[in-house]
Amino acid sequence: AVALNLEALRSEFPILHQTIDGNPLVYLDNAATTQKPRAVIQAITDFYTQCNANVHRGAHQLADEATRRYEHARDTVANFIGAADRSEVIWTSGTTEAINIVANGMAQQLTAGDEVLVTEMEHHANLVTWQQACLRSGAVLKVAPIHDNGALDTDAFSSLLSERTRLVALPHVSNALGTLNPIKALTAQAKAKGALVLIDGAQGIAHGGVQVADIGCDFYAFSGHKLFGPTGIGVLWGKASVLQDWPVWQTGGEMISRVSYQESSWGELPNRLEAGTPHIAGAIGMAAGINWFSQLDLAAVQAHEQALLAHATQQAQDFAGMQLVGTAPAKVGVLSFNLAGSHPADVGFLLDRQGVAIRTGDHCAQPLMRRLGVPGTARASFSVYNTLQEVDALFIALKKAQQMLA
Ligand code: PMP
Repeated sequence: AVALNLEALRSEFPILHQTIDGNPLVYLDNAATTQKPRAVIQAITDFYTQCNANVHRGAHQLADEATRRYEHARDTVANFIGAADRSEVIWTSGTTEAINIVANGMAQQLTAGDEVLVTEMEHHANLVTWQQACLRSGAVLKVAPIHDNGALDTDAFSSLLSERTRLVALPHVSNALGTLNPIKALTAQAKAKGALVLIDGAQGIAHGGVQVADIGCDFYAFSGHKLFGPTGIGVLWGKASVLQDWPVWQTGGEMISRVSYQESSWGELPNRLEAGTPHIAGAIGMAAGINWFSQLDLAAVQAHEQALLAHATQQAQDFAGMQLVGTAPAKVGVLSFNLAGSHPADVGFLLDRQGVAIRTGDHCAQPLMRRLGVPGTARASFSVYNTLQEVDALFIALKKAQQMLA
């Protein structure tokens, strides 16, 4: 693997070069959202300064150019994840909406006694949505347990699969703990039972190498903003063979084929699931983020992330009074922890005063926090532009915070 030139790479992120209360910004909240390289900011600016127009409707050149860039962005996503066809890439507002589209589609299929299987480590987006879908349909929500280290109990997962399992919805990577799930093997087991499989890829996508055909799932959901792109845009990838027969999501312009006062017929994929004016600049920005990420050497990116995690984990183990939450053998660059006797919110506040940005709280995973017996955690999450020195800065700041809280 080619080593990453971190200095050059960091220089592409204008936001990173600032001070917070006189301290250099150390941005370690990448699981919440990643920062944006100049290429993304420029692509959005270019759209609004060169060719802003509505897509697909145009009888003029700006509209043609806007449509070209917007649909090209769809091709970029399709290539990035290895979609069999560009029509399988549905633009959404993010992972949350993508999961809700799947729930809307499943609504007609779920009946009393059917089962939906999720895991104990779900983000609320992939838990509440299925819980409510089950409550409406009479289906039963099954929850595959985790081990105390935050790894999925794969034996229990297997035994919870049954002939009644209609859908398995599980995260590629846990946002709260960093656990990396063996989604390919789990998907194969679920498919063998005849279930549909949805992967919540909000966290998994940025850690590289997602090829949907290789995973074997039916749906993969992700957000642009965790992949160096803007907020407000995301993708539902789904197999055309499943999506094409599904009930529509929202109704309105663009998603129809023929409309009369009495009735309407629906368009083809992807449009049938994309009503109204889309987030055109968002799609273009998301594609720019993917292009930026794709030019990096993936093995080097993953090695760097693992080096950051290993360095942080080592220091955490040597840090008196620190409890790590989530120590699964397979993890991405997320360090969730608590300091004995301190509330995570206080830790976060004192780190912020030193320029170190982390996230604290329940990470939209309240049942998981209860399962682990913690009120929440402090979470440092790494991205490709973070440095080993920034990890050191985190621990220096944590020492100070611990002294102040003592
Ligand atoms: N699932 C996981 C695992 C996440 O980390 C997130 C974002 N925190 C989501 C779903 C929801 O993503 P979004 O808020 O971008 O829709």
